[in-house]
Amino acid sequence: MQIRFYNTLTHQVETFEPLEPPTVTMYNCGPTVYDYGHIGNFRSFLFADLLRRFLELAGYDVRQVMNVTDVGHMTEDDLADGGGEDKMQVGRRRLKEAKKSGVADVSDPDDPFQVAAFFTGAFIEDARRLRMRIADEYPGRVPRATDHIAPMQDLIRRLIEKGHAYVSDDGAVYYSVETFPDYGRLSGNTLDQLRGGAGGRISDEHQAQKRHPADFLLWKPDSGHLMKWDAPWGEGYPGWHIECSAMAMHLLGRETIDLHTGGEDNIFPHHECEIAQSTGASGAPFARMWMHARFLLVDGEKMSKSRGNFYTVRDLVDRGIDPVVIRYELIKAPYRSNANLTLSDLSDSGKAVQRLRRFAEGLEQRSTGEAEVDLSHPVLARFAGALADDLNIAEALATVFTWIGEDPPDADEALAVWRRIDSVLDVMRVAVGDDDDVSGRCRAIDDARRDRDFDTADQLRQGLIDDGYEVMTTQEGTTARRSLT
Ligand code: AMP
Ligand code: ZN
Repeated sequence: MQIRFYNTLTHQVETFEPLEPPTVTMYNCGPTVYDYGHIGNFRSFLFADLLRRFLELAGYDVRQVMNVTDVGHMTEDDLADGGGEDKMQVGRRRLKEAKKSGVADVSDPDDPFQVAAFFTGAFIEDARRLRMRIADEYPGRVPRATDHIAPMQDLIRRLIEKGHAYVSDDGAVYYSVETFPDYGRLSGNTLDQLRGGAGGRISDEHQAQKRHPADFLLWKPDSGHLMKWDAPWGEGYPGWHIECSAMAMHLLGRETIDLHTGGEDNIFPHHECEIAQSTGASGAPFARMWMHARFLLVDGEKMSKSRGNFYTVRDLVDRGIDPVVIRYELIKAPYRSNANLTLSDLSDSGKAVQRLRRFAEGLEQRSTGEAEVDLSHPVLARFAGALADDLNIAEALATVFTWIGEDPPDADEALAVWRRIDSVLDVMRVAVGDDDDVSGRCRAIDDARRDRDFDTADQLRQGLIDDGYEVMTTQEGTTARRSLT
């Protein structure tokens, strides 16, 4: 199957071929954990999840790393010299609020490591609810920036040795953008534009210390910072961009990786700087393909607290929305268009998920044995073919609903096709494993509720809870999954 993706680096749709098939190495910029992630963040993360699952369907073995940014960077860390407030100060306030409302059981909400640990846990919980494959792969120990300070310092050392980085008069380590001729290739910025302040955000607070205004921070000695580590350049903290260069190369074990993703705001400066750092140190291309998800809008506008259209995953779950419906809603729009979420869209997604589940459960009941299908099956070929076309999920879903509408006669074959499709969509009742028993018990709860036999429904529910499941009943029915410990 020929796979074609849009590469931000070359501004065109290109054939995707990994360097060492069948392995695909992929790095995704993950969350900053000083608050709960919002659904826009999860749109970017779920885009990466969809990409991974599609590549697996296509037969690749995907090695995926999504980092957790738990180093206390600055609130304006997209500025070349990292302005604003220490994010962990913000995190302290958030954790205090969570402790006050009884959500966070922490001893010291002022401890930045407790702040990071709490919001990392919340991220994993949301990621699991949204069935991001990565969440079950690193149970409790996602790759954290604070665990990778040494590889970051190594990279900084290499950059200094190679003349790409320098220690400024105020003791900070900066990357010298003029030493990297390709700086600006990804974002289209030129150094002249950046010098004039036209191409992106650059503060001039530290102008005097820097050789070029776009030179960006690699290490900042600051003994007053909440999270800090010893370093040859003085006790302090790493810049934001160095984290992803170091973690991608260290954890994927390659100087050149196949895919790198993020949201569109990551293109500049974050990914531009990552390229300069990684290629500057290794001399090799860094990521062969860069893919960026456009922003999620809510009610046609940028999400913001003041507009009242700002949602976390848990805000929506608290409104009784099944996380799988949120998953479906966030993946259903092609990643290169601005998805727009409204509460009525969520209800449409709820109906779509319900229809898929009913269809699949009907097949399960009719099926008498296992069938084998591969990607040459016409439905799967159309489904995978749409995704191979720059991850055209809208087309892929249209294929699925057309097929469902045709009421496929051979239940065994159709179930096998559905299972392959659901390995990508992941909308069925049970998230972990293929647990028919749990799925059946959930259906029994729904049947009892439909018959208004609430005692039986409660007993069945309690039985699942006693067996270590988290049970949730929403308009779309009951689901259960292993509870988090
Ligand atoms: P942060 O936790 O702020 O570092 O953001 C994590 C990821 O979410 C980054 O890759 C951002 O590009 C992405 N992101 C932030 N806001 C949105 C949004 N509204 N829609 C899609 N992605 C977003
Ligand atoms: Zn990153």
